[in-house]
Amino acid sequence: MFNSDLDRDESPTSRRAFLISAAAGLGGLLLWQWKTPAILEAAPATEPKDVTIIVFSDDGHRLKTSRIPKVIKTPDQWRQQLGPGVFDITRNADTEIAYSGKYWDLHDKGIYRCICCDNALFDSATKFDSGTGWPSFWAPIAKENVTEIRDTTLGLVRTAVACTQCDAHLGHVFDDGPAPTNLRYCMNSASLRFVKSK
Ligand SMILES: [Zn+2]
Repeated sequence: MFNSDLDRDESPTSRRAFLISAAAGLGGLLLWQWKTPAILEAAPATEPKDVTIIVFSDDGHRLKTSRIPKVIKTPDQWRQQLGPGVFDITRNADTEIAYSGKYWDLHDKGIYRCICCDNALFDSATKFDSGTGWPSFWAPIAKENVTEIRDTTLGLVRTAVACTQCDAHLGHVFDDGPAPTNLRYCMNSASLRFVKSK
């Protein structure tokens, strides 16, 4: 799977490179919008709410469907738990620099959990080499476990992906991924915690 994916990476890579350099060139105003996305800031719940997620074991087995309270913490509590860099990415929808994260080039077998709340998010079986410098998957481990949000920051219409259980910002999903879904979940390594299969 990895070899054939490498052959078809040129187009999304150059498009992403263009978008990033265009965004960087526009400077202050866009940076301000990037840091304060109205839609994403409105999304996190502040009142108790139950959500449905699928619980997985560390070796990737689907255990049960669970109706549980959403994880809600104050910004100060999250900052203390996560540290400033991970806080900015997961709670303020920042994006890590391409090729800077710890998982874009990881090919080990295992699952990826939410760094904030441990919800299972992705299985290494759906990970592919997108050539973007961000860990990329063609499907979440269970559709219930991620929430997709319309995101119009940066002057683009994109679909942001958040953790259903705690609203952590994970990344974005694009429609230029490989079969069978043709989706590319482009994630921040910083939002994830890898659990290697034994
Ligand atoms: Zn979470």
